Amino acid sequence: MSNTTVTSRLLDGCGHCGKTETLLPCTGCDAMLYCNQEHQAAHVETHQQCCKSIKKCRKYCQKYEEASHQNLPVDISLDQYLDARMSWGYNLACLLTTRGHEEAIKHYMEVLRLGRLGPGNSWFNIHRFIAWTLFELDKDHDCYDFITAWVTAACRESDLAEDTMLYTRFRRASLLEAVELPWKSINDIRLVAPVILMKLKLLFDLQAMDTTTKVVGPKVPLEILDNIRFYVPSSSVILANPELLRSNDHSATIVILQQQTRSLYKKATEVRVHLTKELKQNDRHSIVSRHIKLDLEFSHNCWVVVPGATDYINKLQAEMEKYV
Ligand SMILES: [Zn+2]
Ligand SMILES: [Zn+2]
Repeated sequence: MSNTTVTSRLLDGCGHCGKTETLLPCTGCDAMLYCNQEHQAAHVETHQQCCKSIKKCRKYCQKYEEASHQNLPVDISLDQYLDARMSWGYNLACLLTTRGHEEAIKHYMEVLRLGRLGPGNSWFNIHRFIAWTLFELDKDHDCYDFITAWVTAACRESDLAEDTMLYTRFRRASLLEAVELPWKSINDIRLVAPVILMKLKLLFDLQAMDTTTKVVGPKVPLEILDNIRFYVPSSSVILANPELLRSNDHSATIVILQQQTRSLYKKATEVRVHLTKELKQNDRHSIVSRHIKLDLEFSHNCWVVVPGATDYINKLQAEMEKYV
């Protein structure tokens, strides 16, 4: 039984043709993969900017690392190193490949650790990059755990000076748990949005599973039905939860998720401008600062990988406006 339910639009194969067999890494960045030199050449125009940046950041970081290993003086400060390491990760994520995203997470986590960063001291908004990158990798549990850890720590500012290993406090939280995140302290829609999206992903999956059971259920043997159901989920949370996977009727959980999504969205809109408004602003012509634009581009990609999510939010927004 395969458990490859790819919902992400990340590329796994050759950067030019998508083929996944016998791939070689790009000679420049060592990150993008290709079938052969012709395909690498054909992709040069699209790839060269990221490729050059990755190479440059890698070289810069290696210079710092080599010098510090040998205790030699180097004209690069820790901040400059972290800055380069962050860019290295960001450019790897820009490749939009699974491999690039996985490597990016490692860099971001190192920046977090070495920079002793935590809520209140997070330059580059690294927490957002980590959350969205984990989400795009379909690592919903990790993403949820990270956000929960980050947000929880944000509520105890006094602990933060001591808490330099925030990321090691991840726990296996359940995405089905009640929404208890401390919303008042969050002014960051980009941490709320992935939680909404992960819950929606779960909700849509359960709805699809129940529809499948209703349509084919009475006619097919249980083992085959299990197989069919197994292929439906796009949320990694369901695949990791045998109880959800086996159940024939998820209606109670569906109602809970609908309530949670509604209340999350309501709270999110109270915290900051409307999510829908932000999504609409994500076009090339709107005048937004580079920072906001970057965030929106990142989050926008994530909305695309959950089909129906934007429509669902638009409907929620319309419902809320009706009662104002
Ligand atoms: Zn190819
Ligand atoms: Zn390259």
